[in-house]
Amino acid sequence: MPASAKLLAGVELGGTKCVCILGTGPDDVRAIERLPTALEREDTLRQIEGVLDRWRQQFGPMRALGIASFGPVDLRADSPTFGYITSTSKAGWRNTDVAQRLGKRLGLPVGFDTDVNGAALAEGRWGAGRGFDNFAYVTVGTGIGVGSIVRGRSIFGMNHTELGHIRVVRKPGDTFAGVCPYHGDCIEGLASGPAIEKRAGRPAAQLAPDDPAWDYVVHGLAQLLHTMVLTTAPQRIFLGGGVIGGQAHLFERIQQELKRSLNGYVEAPEVGLDIARFIVPPGLGAMSGPLGALAVAADAEHLAAGKAHTVAAAVSR
Ligand code: ADP
Ligand code: ZN
Repeated sequence: MPASAKLLAGVELGGTKCVCILGTGPDDVRAIERLPTALEREDTLRQIEGVLDRWRQQFGPMRALGIASFGPVDLRADSPTFGYITSTSKAGWRNTDVAQRLGKRLGLPVGFDTDVNGAALAEGRWGAGRGFDNFAYVTVGTGIGVGSIVRGRSIFGMNHTELGHIRVVRKPGDTFAGVCPYHGDCIEGLASGPAIEKRAGRPAAQLAPDDPAWDYVVHGLAQLLHTMVLTTAPQRIFLGGGVIGGQAHLFERIQQELKRSLNGYVEAPEVGLDIARFIVPPGLGAMSGPLGALAVAADAEHLAAGKAHTVAAAVSR
């Protein structure tokens, strides 16, 4: 196989399942395999290694590996625990090396980022974010996660950002304690699928569009978007995840509540007349997660090429 035909490998490590993917983009996925993210992390990591080893034998050496993981994760390239899942509330997965381990095994440039940053990067490369260099991907599902891209890169400082855990102004009269084990009523604690279920006493999927629980969800998510508009000024916000995807009525309500909350302060068409084009579903649908891992691999390859003298397998950012 000529070098130009080499493929990228990706691993989307989610809280419940893990997707391994091989290819070069949405139109060229050569292989995809899903495994449960077991409570016993060693089982899961060995299964991932098994898939990657098999693909290497079948398809030849890969160009780079990308890992897009649930977090929090350590993305600091100079940290001894770079590539680790750190303080997660998922039992059995605290302080787990993922990227160093897989990178050493494959001997490839390895990119490592959060699952939501990966999904955002994939939207930028192949999906609804094409043509923009500042945008964000929000998922409202089992948790709430936000991937923010600024100047074409995921935001990174002392570590990654965690907008799913910001505190928001409560809707007047709301006394629900929230479900986040760290913060109670942060936005994930107020508006994630489990939070809606706790508040309503029934799974979110069973609630009618006029159930009062949605008023709180709309209010909270509009507060999250308000903060995003004012901090990184995204050109587009992609809003997805199981809760949003299952409740078509939420989009317009969130758009209107965001406008109401900003109250005319930001004079941009995106948060005015054009709001229906500003807050939109992700373009890659259910594939934005797995393709996120491929996008992280593509960026890692690019970075490694620019740092040819870098010996370490773990080239991150
Ligand atoms: P994850 O966040 O684990 O990747 P999803 O994005 O699919 O998974 O989100 C799962 C969450 O979505 C669950 O909390 C579930 O209650 C919620 N959900 C699933 N279907 C619907 C629906 N039709 N309406 C509202 N919420 C839903
Ligand atoms: Zn929280």
